[in-house]
Amino acid sequence: MDDETSEGWTGSCFKKGGKKLITLTPICMQCNTQQNIEVTEEQLRNYNGGTHIQDAMPNLTPGQREILISGTCEKCFNKIFSL
Ligand SMILES: [Zn+2]
Repeated sequence: MDDETSEGWTGSCFKKGGKKLITLTPICMQCNTQQNIEVTEEQLRNYNGGTHIQDAMPNLTPGQREILISGTCEKCFNKIFSL
């Protein structure tokens, strides 16, 4: 019962320091690079509850947020939008 997937993200849950953390492993659909992004259960719940990702997960880098939102890593995102 402990694996959570949401928004098509796959991830694994683990506990650290009494907190439940989830490692999200989104894969860039452009270059197929997998990233590991660690979030807390609370952050994921807030995001799924409709909180904007920059408010729900303020500790992530813009590139990490990008791949979660659009499925495109920062490198590919920059490539696409610098054309
Ligand atoms: Zn990419």
